[in-house]
Amino acid sequence: MKTGLLADWRAAEWDARRWPDFRAAELACKCGGRFCGGEYVHDPVFLDALQRMRDALGAPVIVNSGHRCALWNAHVGGAPASEHKRIAADIRLAGHAPGALLRAARGAGFSSFGFYRSFLHMDLRPGRRWFGGAAARRFWSPVIIEEDMAWWK
Ligand SMILES: [Zn+2]
Repeated sequence: MKTGLLADWRAAEWDARRWPDFRAAELACKCGGRFCGGEYVHDPVFLDALQRMRDALGAPVIVNSGHRCALWNAHVGGAPASEHKRIAADIRLAGHAPGALLRAARGAGFSSFGFYRSFLHMDLRPGRRWFGGAAARRFWSPVIIEEDMAWWK
C-alpha cells in the first residue's frame, strides 16, 4: 500500500471496507488545481481514527479541510507548520453536539485539537490545543469544562 505524500489522491489505495464513510478526494487538497493536482497524504492510522470517530458518532462527518499543498495552506492563512500540510481534519460542527464530537474524536485517538466556531480541527500530534479566536473560546470553554477538565492542560 502506498502511504505518505501522493501527487494525486487517485493514486491512493482506498480500502472501502476499512474506511466506508470517507473518500480520498474529500481529504485531498482543495485548491482545485490552482497550486497542485489534488495532492494528498495517505495515512491509514489517521484514516482508522477518522472512521472510528464516525462509527462512534453514527452520523455523517463533513471534512472542511484535510490535506493542503504548501501553497494552498499559505493562501488560506494556515500556520507555516500546519499539520494540514501532512494530514489533519477540520470537521464541520453543524449536525453535531460539540461535546459528543470532541468525545468521539478523543476516543478515536485524536490528540491535538483546534477549537473554532464552525469546526473542530483534529490531528494525531500529541497534546496541542488552541482556540481560533475569542468567539471560539467563548463557545468551546463550557463544553471543554463539561467534558473533562483533567484532560485540559
Ligand atoms: Zn493544492
